Parts: sequence; C-alpha cells; structure tokens
Amino acid sequence: MSVVIVVGAQWGDEGKGKVVDLYTERADTIVRYGGGANAGHTLVIKGQKLITRLVPSGVCHPNKPCVLGDGMVIDPRSLLEEIDQLQARGLLLNNELVVGQDAHVILPYHKRIEGVREDRTAGAIGTTRRGIGPAYEAKVGRRGVRIRDLFRPERLRELVAANLEELNPVVRHLGGEVPTDAEVEQWIADALAAGERLKPFVRDASRFVVDKIAAGKHVLFEGAQGTLLDIDHGTYPYVTSSSTIAAGACQSTGIGPSKIDRVIGITKAYATRVGGGPFPTELHGDAADALRQAGGEFGAVTGRPRRCGWLDLPALRLGVRLSGMDGLALTKLDVLAGLPEVAVCVAYKLDGHELDELPTDLDDIARAEPVFARYPGWASLAGVRAWDDLPATTRAYVEQVGKLAGVPFYLVSVGPDREETMVLRDPFAA
Ligand code: GDP
Repeated sequence: MSVVIVVGAQWGDEGKGKVVDLYTERADTIVRYGGGANAGHTLVIKGQKLITRLVPSGVCHPNKPCVLGDGMVIDPRSLLEEIDQLQARGLLLNNELVVGQDAHVILPYHKRIEGVREDRTAGAIGTTRRGIGPAYEAKVGRRGVRIRDLFRPERLRELVAANLEELNPVVRHLGGEVPTDAEVEQWIADALAAGERLKPFVRDASRFVVDKIAAGKHVLFEGAQGTLLDIDHGTYPYVTSSSTIAAGACQSTGIGPSKIDRVIGITKAYATRVGGGPFPTELHGDAADALRQAGGEFGAVTGRPRRCGWLDLPALRLGVRLSGMDGLALTKLDVLAGLPEVAVCVAYKLDGHELDELPTDLDDIARAEPVFARYPGWASLAGVRAWDDLPATTRAYVEQVGKLAGVPFYLVSVGPDREETMVLRDPFAA
C-alpha cells in the first residue's frame, strides 16, 4: 500500500485535475483536503470536459470512494448541485462519496460579508466571493457551523443567531444590507433540507481513511490551490484561508504524518497566478496574451483571466521545501511550443546576494531582481507520447528544470488528454 499526496507546487491551477485523474487509476480512495468550491478542476475524458469544484477529480473512476476532508469548507447547495451533475453523467451513483462530519459549512451570510468587503477593497485579494474566507474565520473564531450541525436544528439556529449578531453590525458598517428575519429563516430551512439530502454521505472521514490505509489500500490525497497560497507559509496576505501545503492533508483529514509515503508537486512549464499578490516573473502585453490563449489560462470556476509569466524556479524550490515534495509532475509543456526561446527564472538578486528561493517578505519580493536563463524553444509536441520522442531542446529544458528544482520528474504532460502523458516514475511504488 502507498499513501500519496498530490499538491500544487506554486499558486494553483497547475493541472492537478489531470494528474490526480491519472493517479486515481492506481488508487483505491481519493481524498480532497482543504479549501472549498474555489478550486475548479477541468478534466477532459475522451474529449469531454468535466469541471469539479468540491468533489475530488478522481470521481470519474466509478466505485472509488471520494472523501471530502474535515478541513474543507462546504457550501451544501454547491455540493448538491455537483452531486446532481455528476449523477446525471452516470458518476457517483453508488454513493462513493464521504463527507467529513466536521467540515465547516458555508452559509449565505459568509458570502454576503465577503462580497461587501471585496467591493470596499476593489478586489485586493481577489477572492472568489464564495464565502470561503469568512467560513474559515468563523471556524477559527469557534462559532462555525459544521456539517454535523445540519442534523441538529436547535444548535444550527443558535449558531446562526450568534454569527449574525457578530456579523450584521459589520455588514451595516461597510454599507451592506443585513438579512431580514424571513431571509434568515429561509437560510436555516435550506441548510436543514440540504443536510437531509447529504446525510447518506456524512460520516467520520478520519476513521474511514485510516481504515483504508490499515487495510492496505492505495490512498491519494488531492490538495486544492497551491503550496505558495498556504495560510501560514504562502505569500501572506495574498493567500487562501487554509493549509494548502502537503501537511494540510494530515491536519484536514485527521491522519498522522507517519502514514504518508510520497508527495508529488504539480508544476506547469510556465507560471500563472490569479488575483493579487507578488509574481516577479509575470509577463505583460502580447507575450502574456499569447501564453494565456495558448494555455487556456482562464479560471475554471470564475472565467477570470490568469496572470501569466515564466517558470520561477526559486518559487518552485520554496514549494518543494514547504511541501516536502519527493518529485514533480510537469504539465503544459506543449503550451510553450513555437516560441523561439523559453526563459526560466533561476535565482533572485537582493542586496547584492543571490537567493535560490523566492524571498518570503513582500517588500523583499518587490525589490528582488529575477535572474533569467534562456533555452532554445521547440516546435509542436502534438503526437509525442514517449520521452525519447521529445525534441532534444525540450528534453534539455526539462532536464535542466528538474536539476535546478532538486527533485525528479514523475510525469511530463504534453496535452490535456490522458494519453498525452509520459509517466517516468510510479508514485505508488514501494
Ligand atoms: P487544476 O485546478 O490544477 O486542475 O488546473 P486547471 O483548472 O487550470 O486545469 C488545467 C487545464 O489545463 C485543464 O483545462 C486541463 O485539461 C489542461 N491541461 C492539463 N495538462 C495539460 C497539458 O499538459 N497541456 C495542455 N495544453 N493542457 C493541459
């Protein structure tokens, strides 16, 4: 048996969906940890697009349990919509879903406060306005509503009242509209109804996963977003509200670190970032547009154009360290095809020193000067299925990136389809 964590190496959107989907073939159970419906995964299966937001992207393999860990924040309505859509496609029909009973619930008032705040700050952090941050705030403030509370109407009512008592004055102060009593009643009724529908899926997710591991099953953990968006270790405050580093898998699911066998980081052959925050290798103008169009770099959930730039190895090295990555999966190598040369940031210069990792202070990042290496480009990679079929320039680029990142590649992807993948090592190997 092996327990593998797959995690975004930088700022998310690295193509985790495809990699998790591939690795799911070898896994028995797939666990999503952290985050909410802000992470969209786009899967292409036999030419058909499928977007999942909460349910792990391993869902397209029938009869493999998918677990939503307790560290997640779940909007019950959004989860039910997703379940309906998946079931309409013939997936998730055998109740292969486990929803952690201690996951926190996103309620309409979380979205309202987030919307009001984003309007005031003109999207400084660039949240998806899905109430994820406020739900985590309530959790840490010890007044959060958990999935298990959806089955206890009195407790739910008390918690909602306590939350609104705190939030309403803030919403009013920020120029927002506080809910009417009738609206609040409706929210509670909707939450209880959603709880009834979700009940068959809800259980002790920690126990479920630990039992699978004890039974010798392959378990795959799927991170949301990316390592550098971690609440503790990312480019704070331009981060998400949960633990996105690999250790978050243990924390979210309630399993011990001793159970983890391998951590694989996903990185694109270039870099993207959504919303605000430092991005020193960012490209602008035509060069950024070309990369954005070639890579389809628009949010799967929001449709927002992503900021695009060159691969940042010092940032990748920071990600490798923070998540303890044993290896990497490189995606979207094909997107760089046709460029005369490909640049990579290999170091930063700051105050006369050369840094091998991205600095961690925002001011330092702003002052740091990226040092670029340039490599000859390559033509189309269409039809390439084996490492030896890659053009020599592409192989040289990948080898150099792997060497500078300090960990080996487990997989190289040259297109969105499952077949467009070169598997170099097996993450589940003993
Ligand atoms: P995720 O949340 O990490 O899965 O990232 P995205 O939602 O941004 O999904 C990545 C997108 O890239 C999806 O549309 C995938 O089908 C696509 N994709 C994944 N790997 C590759 C690849 O190697 N090449 C190309 N051209 N597209 C890819």
